[in-house]
Amino acid sequence: MGSGMLITGGRLIDGTGAAPRDDEAVLIRDGRIAALGADALAQATEEDERIDATGRTVMPGLVDAHTHLSFGEPTGNDELFNHRTEAYSSMLSAYNARKVLRAGVTSVLDADCLWNIGVELRDAIETGIVEGPRMRAGGQALMTMLGGTAGRMIKDEGRTGYATVVNGRDVMVNEIRRQIKYGVDWIKVMVTGLIPSMKGPEVKVWTFDELRTVCDTAHELNTLVVAHCRNAESTRDAARAGVDMIYHASYLDDEAIEAVVENGTAMCPTFTLLGNLADYGEKVGTAPELLDVFRAEIEITAKQLAKAHAAGVKFLTGSETGFAVTPVGEWHARELEMFVDYIGMSPMDAIVAATKNGAFAMRTDDVGTIEVGKYADVLVVDGDPLADIKVLQRKDALVEVIKEGKRIDLKTPIPERKMRSSDQVRFLAACPLTRSLAFTEEQLEMLSHV
Ligand SMILES: [Zn+2]
Repeated sequence: MGSGMLITGGRLIDGTGAAPRDDEAVLIRDGRIAALGADALAQATEEDERIDATGRTVMPGLVDAHTHLSFGEPTGNDELFNHRTEAYSSMLSAYNARKVLRAGVTSVLDADCLWNIGVELRDAIETGIVEGPRMRAGGQALMTMLGGTAGRMIKDEGRTGYATVVNGRDVMVNEIRRQIKYGVDWIKVMVTGLIPSMKGPEVKVWTFDELRTVCDTAHELNTLVVAHCRNAESTRDAARAGVDMIYHASYLDDEAIEAVVENGTAMCPTFTLLGNLADYGEKVGTAPELLDVFRAEIEITAKQLAKAHAAGVKFLTGSETGFAVTPVGEWHARELEMFVDYIGMSPMDAIVAATKNGAFAMRTDDVGTIEVGKYADVLVVDGDPLADIKVLQRKDALVEVIKEGKRIDLKTPIPERKMRSSDQVRFLAACPLTRSLAFTEEQLEMLSHV
């Protein structure tokens, strides 16, 4: 076997949920975990690169199960739908993929995208021409004519931005087959949407039978289904129809929880987007009255999700990275903190959600834990996430990011993205400011002029 890497002295959190082990050696060979503990020390040779992790935590790379790497941090749907080109968006996605990896995220599920960029970016990363996290990708999000969160900006049929309207059973089935033909790993369905003429939160815009058709068609072709659900009925129906994973699951009631438990549906609540909007939305123009609505959505949903967690439902962490309030490479680990704060998970359970459980989104058992035979996706962290889960959000605490046995360069700065005139980004000047956890007086001053 060729030379590899030996990490010594660290406290290993292996991602399985087992108690941490102090001073545990990790040997990496050919991109995989070759041995642990005494075996690792015994098998290591002079040729192996050494990493001293004394006083530090060694843990699996994070899995972010809800990203939008092709979106390029828009502040609104107009920008996203009407002011982008395929080629530029592709290059922007490649640029952003590096930032994700540097944030300690070694795997992502990117469930819907502009054009077919998700699948192409996944392959570009896999073939080594783009540096980024391992990806699983979806294509266009399926919508009914009622649309999704973009309301009437979604055309009555065909594609708009990241969405495709599927009117009728045949169109639905054909679109799923088309996406699978071009390489998707997941099908994304927007089960709720905002209807401009109806005041209030999102409403369910799919019938149960339609959802069944989607799930049956995808499953027959060995493809999983993830659903955006922001009310109770949508989560209930999606789970019963056979959806494999649910994003948001907002306001789920006991009946929805029962359906989720019964069907073994995975949950990826993605509080981070709402949390960032609640905390920083005001700075980027969100109406003040909405901030409390976002906060309430998190609190009400989390209270219910705690019951689902107690019942053994599988939780994954997602950040909805890719919007202006969730800039790429900055907020991937906030979800762990929110799971602890709002759902009441232990830091260890939150880590399992962000590592081992992420394997489900990646559709392979080879990621998510540090066990012999798994991909060597490893973080060395200067701190103890079990004592302070927020340490994973600190770039300066991330000492090493290793993907498939390769150390990622965390030092060379990534060139700053400047806006080109055709970018319709009113607030992107403000966007980098959301990257700091606290705003300085100077930043607030700048924001007030945006
Ligand atoms: Zn999303």
